[in-house]
Amino acid sequence: GPMSYAYDDQNIFAKILRGEIPNRTVLETEHCLAFHDIAPQAPVHVLVIPKGPYVNADHFGAEASAGELADFQRTIARVAAETGVAESAGGEGYRLIANSGVNGVQEVPHYHVHMLGGRGLGRMLA
Ligand code: 5GP
Repeated sequence: GPMSYAYDDQNIFAKILRGEIPNRTVLETEHCLAFHDIAPQAPVHVLVIPKGPYVNADHFGAEASAGELADFQRTIARVAAETGVAESAGGEGYRLIANSGVNGVQEVPHYHVHMLGGRGLGRMLA
């Protein structure tokens, strides 16, 4: 219900973290895993997830340690550089998306940020 963060440890990303389902890892850190989306919506479509049992961005932001929070954002930067989408790496940029809840149409209830790049993505916001 409202104000609770019930984590389902049978979700697909929990299974990936436990090694029960294979993944194409881009990089792994102490607190995070970055891997290719199974149904890529762009030439680069990487998912970055914390290893901890967080449902969404507000859960992660409220309860993760400073180390986990820092590692997450640093991992995004490293993936952007290593996949070549970062402008600092000579790329043409990318987009981050984090779906949450019913309105966000989140399908997997383990916090993840989509990194999309390698093509023009169009404008989403007015
Ligand atoms: P959401 O809609 O929750 O933001 O996005 C979930 C994403 O997880 C989707 O883009 C979907 O393609 C991806 N996905 C679902 N199952 C798997 C899986 O087993 N492996 C990988 N690598 N990605 C998955």
